[in-house]
Amino acid sequence: MGKVIYFNGKFVPEEKAVIPVTTHALHYGTGCYEGIRAYYNEEKKALYVFRLEDHFKRMENSVKIMHIKLPGSAKELSKIAIELLKRNFSGADVYFLNEVKKANSVYIRPLAFKSDPAIGNFNLAKVSDSFAMYCVPLGRHYAKEEGLKVNVSSWVRVSDKAIPPRGKITGSYANTCLAKTESAQSGFDEALLLDGNGNVVEGSAENFFMVKNGSLITPLTSADILAGVTRDSIIEIAKNELGIEVVERNIAREEIYGADEIFLCGTGSEIAGVVEIDGRAIGDGKVGQITGQVKKLYLEIIHGNNPKYFKWLSKVERNVKDRL
Ligand code: PMP
Repeated sequence: MGKVIYFNGKFVPEEKAVIPVTTHALHYGTGCYEGIRAYYNEEKKALYVFRLEDHFKRMENSVKIMHIKLPGSAKELSKIAIELLKRNFSGADVYFLNEVKKANSVYIRPLAFKSDPAIGNFNLAKVSDSFAMYCVPLGRHYAKEEGLKVNVSSWVRVSDKAIPPRGKITGSYANTCLAKTESAQSGFDEALLLDGNGNVVEGSAENFFMVKNGSLITPLTSADILAGVTRDSIIEIAKNELGIEVVERNIAREEIYGADEIFLCGTGSEIAGVVEIDGRAIGDGKVGQITGQVKKLYLEIIHGNNPKYFKWLSKVERNVKDRL
């Protein structure tokens, strides 16, 4: 972990960023978070943060659902994130730099949460808020280049009618954990979740795309999904750079077995080809060609190697003046 954490308005050493066991969010899942990633570019000796402000804009929507107030606008929180990276990545902390180089990227985790003592207080409007942000070197999530073997989960994705999945709400990740655990214990790499009507919605923490007859098909953002930043980026680059038609619509379970290609995407998993679902090969059982094209372009962009998409990157250079 980075040595410095932003906690309730201040940068503090890691050991000072602690919360009491009575904290509301710990008991009731009353928090919202983001997962942001910065890639290290050795040639340019810099970190590139991917779509930083867009993550905080999504967080603004999440916290509204939960009656949480953020300590600043998306722009202000982006500045704090950059400062956090500078304090951990720059200057004299060679240990962190080496870890980042090894991992190739840094994961940034802002967390806004209800912080009063928990007992008997379910009115969110009456519980005070805290905010923390830390960063940690992060390696490849799914290093499996040969593609993932996936199961359709017996757990149904949380519904907008229960806990809105478009808000990145900590409590709803119990749903993710149940699906992921079942999947791992059954020998699969990842879980695919259906909604209450049996439509395919998303992976445990990734959005879903399938290729059929040359088109990319993905569930609508009004489905029970998180509106992923990676999903949004893929739609833009598939249309504008690869000339691939993108269709957003409901997807029935039966359709996925006959798809030409399938991939999952997210900040953590990047773009992960799916080669098998429920013991059935997808396409020819290998990571597909369109998946490969999308992945190549996406990796180029996030690593700071595609000037057209610098608009999506915030650069943090290593500078010894940022020493603590
Ligand atoms: N769905 C869920 C449930 C997730 O947790 C994530 C990861 N944040 C995603 C989709 C992918 O979203 P993003 O591309 O913004 O990381």
